[in-house]
Amino acid sequence: MMNTLNTFFEAQMREWALARGNYEALDSVWSRELVSEKLPTALCVQCNLARLVSTGASIDKASIAARPCFLCAGNRPAEQQSLALNGEFEWLVNPYPILPNHYTIASVAHRRQNIAEAYDAMMQAVLALPEEYIVFYNGPKCGASAPDHLHLQAGVGEGIPLVEYAKGQTSEECLQAIAPFGYQTYLIHGAEDRSRFDELYSMLPVPEGEYEPRINVVACRKGNRVCLIVIPRHAHRPHCYSAEGEAQYLISPGALDMCGLIITPRREDYERLTAARALDILCEVGVRIEPTIDVGIMQGKEVAFTLNGEYTVGHNKRQGTFAASMTDEGILFETGVYDTLYVEPAQDSATFSLHGVTIGKEFHWQQQEMQTFQGSLILRIIDGELHAINRIAIEDYLTSVIASEMSGTSSVELLKAHAIISRSWLLAQLERDERLKMKDKSSSEEGNSQLSNADSQFVKWYDREAHTHFDVCADDHCQRYQGVNRKVTPQVLEAIRTTRGTVLSYGGKVCDARFSKCCGGKTELYESCWDDTPHPYLSVVEDPFCNTHDERVLSEVLNHYDQSTDFYRWTVEYSQEELSELVRRRGGFDYGDIIDLIPIERGPSGRIVRLQIVGAKATRIIGKELEIRRTLSENHLYSSAFEVKKKNGRFILHGAGWGHGVGLCQIGAAMMGAQGYSCEEILHHYYPEAVLAEWYK
Ligand SMILES: [Zn+2]
Ligand SMILES: [Zn+2]
Ligand SMILES: [Zn+2]
Repeated sequence: MMNTLNTFFEAQMREWALARGNYEALDSVWSRELVSEKLPTALCVQCNLARLVSTGASIDKASIAARPCFLCAGNRPAEQQSLALNGEFEWLVNPYPILPNHYTIASVAHRRQNIAEAYDAMMQAVLALPEEYIVFYNGPKCGASAPDHLHLQAGVGEGIPLVEYAKGQTSEECLQAIAPFGYQTYLIHGAEDRSRFDELYSMLPVPEGEYEPRINVVACRKGNRVCLIVIPRHAHRPHCYSAEGEAQYLISPGALDMCGLIITPRREDYERLTAARALDILCEVGVRIEPTIDVGIMQGKEVAFTLNGEYTVGHNKRQGTFAASMTDEGILFETGVYDTLYVEPAQDSATFSLHGVTIGKEFHWQQQEMQTFQGSLILRIIDGELHAINRIAIEDYLTSVIASEMSGTSSVELLKAHAIISRSWLLAQLERDERLKMKDKSSSEEGNSQLSNADSQFVKWYDREAHTHFDVCADDHCQRYQGVNRKVTPQVLEAIRTTRGTVLSYGGKVCDARFSKCCGGKTELYESCWDDTPHPYLSVVEDPFCNTHDERVLSEVLNHYDQSTDFYRWTVEYSQEELSELVRRRGGFDYGDIIDLIPIERGPSGRIVRLQIVGAKATRIIGKELEIRRTLSENHLYSSAFEVKKKNGRFILHGAGWGHGVGLCQIGAAMMGAQGYSCEEILHHYYPEAVLAEWYK
C-alpha cells in the first residue's frame, strides 16, 4: 500500500501547484516549543499561514448548507485526484497540510461525520501505514471543517507532544484515564479490538440536539497494536476565537491542537502565545478535570513524617514514621538519595502527618504542632532548604480553608457563595502566577507591588506575590491551611459538594473574585487598590446590607470578633505630635510636623487612592489604599475611605468600611444569607457582570 500511496502523493505534487507550494512552505514553517514546569511534556505551536482557509472556516449550519461540499467528487478542484484503497473511502492529498504527507480519507458517499462509521477504516489505515503515521478524527463540533461529509485525516505524526507521550506509556490496562494538559484524555491500548472503544464511546454524554459525543480521536501504531487517544470536548471554539482586538487568538482546536500541536495562521498569535495561554484555550474546549494544588507547608534541614496508611515511595510501599534529611547530594531517605521525593497515597483515604509544623509565624503565640494531610507529600530542596509540599485536590483544599475562615453557624447559602468565590479567586491566582512566571521577568509591567516613585509622589500597591516552587503557602499570605480540618461541619461539606467545580466567570475566564470585610455602603473598583487593569466584573455596587449591628451575623464572618468594634462608620483621632511621629515611623519618611492631610483622588466608594501629606519639612502624595492605611495607623486603618477634620490641633478621621471594598462585602453577604437570599442572589448582587460556570466536573 505504501508504494501506491507514495506514488500517488508524488504525482499530486507534480501536477497540483497549490498543494506543492503549501507542502514546500510546510518545510520552513515556524514552530516553537511552549514549556511549563507543570507539564509532563512541552507543547508546540506552529504558525501555518495556509491554514487560514480551514481555521477561519464558517461552520454554522447555514454556511455549510450554502457551500458546495469540497469533499464530494463533483466539487473538488480539477487537479485533485483520489486513490481508492477500500470501497467506502478514498484518499485525497490535503492541500492545506499541517503534517508531512497529510491526507484526507473521505467517504465516497456524502454522509455526515460520525466516528462509529469510520472506526474500522481508521484501524485499517493506521495498521497499514508506517509507524510514524497517525490517523485522526475531528467530531462535527470539534474542529471538523466539513462536518457534513464523513472523513478522517492521516499524516506523519512524529513530534506531536501527546502522541509521543502516549507511545511512551507502558500501562497494562486497556483503558487509561490521563490528563497531562489538565483536560480529560483517554488512552486505549489495543484499540484494534473495537469493543474497547465502543465501551468508552457509549459512556460519553451526547449533547442535546447532537448525534454523537463531542470527541477528537487520534490513532497511532505500536508494532501491531493500535494506541488510541480519545479527547472528549466541551466546546467547539474558545472565546478568544471570536474576541476582538488584543483578546483575539485565531486558534480553532482540532485533534492535533488537543494533542499539544497548536496551529495558528496568524504570526502575531504565534509570537505571543505562552504555554499558560495555550493551556487556557485547550482546557476551555476540552473537559477540565479537578486540578490539584501544591501547598508549601514547612521547611528545614530535616522533615519527619508519619504515613497513617499505605503510601508509595519510589517503587516501595511504606507505612509508619520516617525522616528525610538534606545532604550535599540531595534528599536522603532510607538508603537512597533523591532530587525530589514523591510520597503518594496507595489508597484514597490514606493521610500523612508532618511533625513540628510552625503555626502563628511571627505572632506571640508561635508554636509547633503535628498536622495531618490528605493527598501526596512532595519533598524538594529549594534555595538550600528542604521543603515539605502537600499536593492536594482543590476541592479538599477548599474544604479545609473554608472551615477555618468561616463560622460553622453561617447560613448554607453564604457558605456556598464563599465556596464559589474562594474557588474562583484561587483558580485565578494559579492562572495569574503561571502567566507571570511565563513572562520575561525584566519586561514584566504587571508586578506584585509597584511604585511610581518621584520625589513628590509615593504610590505603591500590594498584591499577593507568587511563589516559585509551589502554588500557595499555608500562611495568611495566601490562605491559612492546616491540613485535615477538625472544624469541618456538615454545612461546609454540603456547600463544597453542591458547588463543586463552580466558579464566577467573565468572558470565558474565571474571575479574580476579590472580597473584603465591609464595603461601607458601596463597593470599590479594582484599579483603586491594585494595578490599573480594569476588571469589568468588579464593578461598583450600592450595598444596603452591611450597615448592621447584628452580632450573630457579625460573628459568622469575623474570627475572634471583638463586639465593641464598629466599622461601618468609625472614627480615629490623633494629636499633631502623635500623627507626625506615627507617619514618620510607619511611612519611613520625615515630613516634619504634619500640617494637613488632603485627599487628591478618591475611588467610587470614597476610598482615597492618593493622599497628600503636607508637612513642615516636606509635602508628598502617597497611595494606593493599603499604603495609606498602613501609614496612618499603628496596624492598619480600617479603610482609606475617610474624611479629615482638624480641630484644636487634633486630626479626626471619620471613616467607612473595613478593607479594600472590592468585590464581595463579607458582612453584607452574611446579612443577605441571614435574610434568606440564595447563593446566586448574593453573588449576582456583588458581581452583577459575572456568570456562574461549571469549570470542571
Ligand atoms: Zn460531500
Ligand atoms: Zn503565600
Ligand atoms: Zn457592604
